[in-house]
Amino acid sequence: MRSNHNHNNSLAEVYDLAVVGGGINGVGIAADAAGRGLSVFLCEKDDLAQHTSSASSKLVHGGLRYLEHYEFRLVREALAEREVLLAKAPHIVKPLRFILPHQPHLRPAWMIRAGLFLYDHLGKREKLAGSRSLRFGAGSPLKAEISRGFEYSDCAVDDARLVVLNAMTARERGAHVHTRTRCVSARRSKGLWHINLERTDGSLYSIRAHALVNAAGPWVARFIQDDLQQKSPYGVRLIQGSHIIVPRLFDGEQAYILQNEDRRIVFAIPYLERFTLIGTTDREYQGDPAKVAISEEETTYLLKVVNAHFKHQLSRTDILHSFAGVRPLCDDESDDPSAVTRDYTLSLSACPGEAPLLSVFGGKLTTYRRLAESALAQLAPHFQNLQPSWTASAPLPGGEQLESLSALIEALCESFGWLPTQVARRWANTYGSRVWRLLDGVHELSDLGEHLGAGLYTREVDYLCREEWAMEAADILWRRTKLGLFMTPGQQAKLRDYLKSEHPHQPNEHAA
Ligand SMILES: Cc1cc2nc3c(=O)[nH]c(=O)nc-3n(C[C@H](O)[C@H](O)[C@H](O)COP(=O)(O)OP(=O)(O)OC[C@H]3O[C@@H](n4cnc5c(N)ncnc54)[C@H](O)[C@@H]3O)c2cc1C
Repeated sequence: MRSNHNHNNSLAEVYDLAVVGGGINGVGIAADAAGRGLSVFLCEKDDLAQHTSSASSKLVHGGLRYLEHYEFRLVREALAEREVLLAKAPHIVKPLRFILPHQPHLRPAWMIRAGLFLYDHLGKREKLAGSRSLRFGAGSPLKAEISRGFEYSDCAVDDARLVVLNAMTARERGAHVHTRTRCVSARRSKGLWHINLERTDGSLYSIRAHALVNAAGPWVARFIQDDLQQKSPYGVRLIQGSHIIVPRLFDGEQAYILQNEDRRIVFAIPYLERFTLIGTTDREYQGDPAKVAISEEETTYLLKVVNAHFKHQLSRTDILHSFAGVRPLCDDESDDPSAVTRDYTLSLSACPGEAPLLSVFGGKLTTYRRLAESALAQLAPHFQNLQPSWTASAPLPGGEQLESLSALIEALCESFGWLPTQVARRWANTYGSRVWRLLDGVHELSDLGEHLGAGLYTREVDYLCREEWAMEAADILWRRTKLGLFMTPGQQAKLRDYLKSEHPHQPNEHAA
């Protein structure tokens, strides 16, 4: 047992908690722990959300499909989290209606109706509308033979920004968040973890911590084996999922959930007004998680499923962008990659007198907050004076005093008459009420600095480097914003040059 906050050590700084991994699970645990009064250190070997947490289908959802695998615990928890996250971050979490076309190869309509009834009632739901049956008219973008279906609610989320906002929360509660810093090894000694870290420039430093959280995602088992030299309590199944982005395939705000004849499902989701996001696949992956990329076979599969449902036919030349990630799932020895449990497992190892290690296996973006609460509940016996859970009702950065996005956009346009409406809209949807910080001291367009293209001004770049750990062009183009889809190669090169000259890599400062 120990008391919190103990930084006065001449050897290497001592934290209560060290977290390895800056994906959603690592930052979620770091934020929760920092808010409960623990001193927290988090390291991420690349950029925040660079791996699985930016390669998702970008849904906060209960997971209608998981009902088929009887994952009631997970579905109930996830359904309830939808409204919690909607309230915490209304600028990046939005309600989304899903259309489920009904076809003869699917389950009978009564069974789907029963599943949707469960989906409507398993978790607490106040804001999201319930499900209903539909008949499609001649104006439907679906093929004429698809005449019936259902509609239900879930939410869309900006996955990478959800990670950044949690990292900001952690920092605002006192955590030290170090990106581009790899944990190369850690060992236990005299009740503490001694943790060795390496920055991308090759420089090394160490910290110590009373507890270690391994939230390394696809690397979770490898981290235990290679860096801690221990045996992993569970195996990990790496299940690849890929997405393609095409020009907007249909009108309207609704998404489609398409069930293929092999029973797997593919989403077609409206994306950033101009596009449709299509995914995902499920295939066993054996390679390096950092190198995962969509395969020819997956591309063919996604196009085939969409073309089987929509009147408008897509071909490879329509694909504007693609991305892939690997789900780090806890191995339940299922034969079918789609059926491996999507639930999470936390493993705590702590012999008496030893510093504890908590490893995270599996998990969804949707349930990150509940996962963090469970992690803190498991670590609680190792800390005195740990404050109670607090994240359910606390807004994420930008979600504070945000009544409606349209009111925010209106207020921005009123205060800054010269601001292009498109930029005001993007900023409101990206930064929420934090946009006022970005615009602090700005009086005219020239105060935004140089225009790099597609509404990206150097002032926003400076803000992202200062406030959101952005360092490289990809951090800004694909994770802090999605401007990579809008900027030309020439404009992207200009951003790279600007970063090189104005924001050369600064190793994270550390007092050790
Ligand atoms: C295709 C696909 C679609 C999905 N769709 C959805 C969805 O719509 N909704 C949903 O809720 N969930 C979805 N998920 C699941 C969700 O994305 C993941 O469960 C979640 O992102 C996992 O987060 P994580 O923090 O565990 O892992 P990651 O995001 O991979 O983070 C782990 C981090 O640890 C870092 N790391 C590893 N080793 C070290 C080390 N030694 N030192 C420092 N850092 C290290 C890595 O660089 C990495 O950034 C999807 C997943 C996939 C693959």
